[in-house]
Amino acid sequence: MDKAQQVEVPSTGDKVVKSDAEWRAQLSPDEFKIARRAGTERAFTGEYWDTKTKGVYNCRCCGTPLFDSETKYDSGTGWPSFTEPVNTDAVATKQDRSWFMVRTEVLCARCDAHLGHVFPDGPEPTGLRFCLNSASLDLEPEE
Ligand code: FE
Repeated sequence: MDKAQQVEVPSTGDKVVKSDAEWRAQLSPDEFKIARRAGTERAFTGEYWDTKTKGVYNCRCCGTPLFDSETKYDSGTGWPSFTEPVNTDAVATKQDRSWFMVRTEVLCARCDAHLGHVFPDGPEPTGLRFCLNSASLDLEPEE
């Protein structure tokens, strides 16, 4: 069964659940492909890979605060990279076996948006590299 034909599930609790039609209406085609279909933007092409602006990066889909610019660093990869989320409950992880690799996918815990992947080769203090897609994020600059 195609995902687009799945039965719509109403929002329950704090979860944000929307149909593909609703996400498509809210997102650009690229944002939909990346955030709702686990796509990946090309390196060095996203809006935030080189951004130094202070602020909070919210989920592009549901607006939940996910990452703080304080934890953003230049990983040299061409994707916005962070050492940790604003809190551990904000993001969920899942094993991703696509493309003949085993990676850990990072998702928005509230709406299941695909954010990117997390790797164990980041700097202190966590040693983690949250390698994310700009298209899944929405920077809210500090006042
Ligand atoms: Fe979200």
